[in-house]
Amino acid sequence: MTIRHHLSDQLLIGYAAGQLPEAFSLVVATHVSLCDECRARLASYDTLGGALIEDQGDVEMAEAALEAVMARIEGMPQATQRAPMRASGIFPAPLADYVGGDLSAVKWRSIGMGVKQAILPTGRDASARLLYIPAGVAVPDHGHRGMELTLVLQGAFADANDRFDRGDLEIADENLEHTPVAMAGQDCICLAATDAPLRFRKFLPRLAQPLFRI
Ligand SMILES: [Zn+2]
Repeated sequence: MTIRHHLSDQLLIGYAAGQLPEAFSLVVATHVSLCDECRARLASYDTLGGALIEDQGDVEMAEAALEAVMARIEGMPQATQRAPMRASGIFPAPLADYVGGDLSAVKWRSIGMGVKQAILPTGRDASARLLYIPAGVAVPDHGHRGMELTLVLQGAFADANDRFDRGDLEIADENLEHTPVAMAGQDCICLAATDAPLRFRKFLPRLAQPLFRI
């Protein structure tokens, strides 16, 4: 597997510092579990964080900082801890834990044109969902406020500029009006996180959005 689209430094640092919304942490943890390169980058940020604590020179302060970090780790949802968990089918370990198993455990809801989604249980400051896009079908046209992360788990999709395969991460901001299309040959399954509701334009009346939490 050759991953060509990676995490930004901003996302890695935010994750290492425990500053990301849970939905984004899930995407970062899932990408990191698929990507040797980003795992190595994350390790270097973790080392840097440890060095900064040691550099304080004040043992009491360092201990307090360490305690705060440990408390944060213990309070984190399971998926963002780095304890070994088992992958399940196409789901890397952190995601398998959220879904509660493999693909057969996913409770899909249709959003039109054969496209399906399943909202994952995360904190409400951002939302995470699995998207199922039949081969050759476009994801319903949508804009978004804030940031949207889309990680490919199966198949591939392409937007106007690029192609994304398993493990690849697309980072989109509100300026990007994009229409990803699943490549022919295999249905595409993605993990997506947004820090604001998606605004699907074609298939769902706006009034229905609160019902679907999108
Ligand atoms: Zn990567």
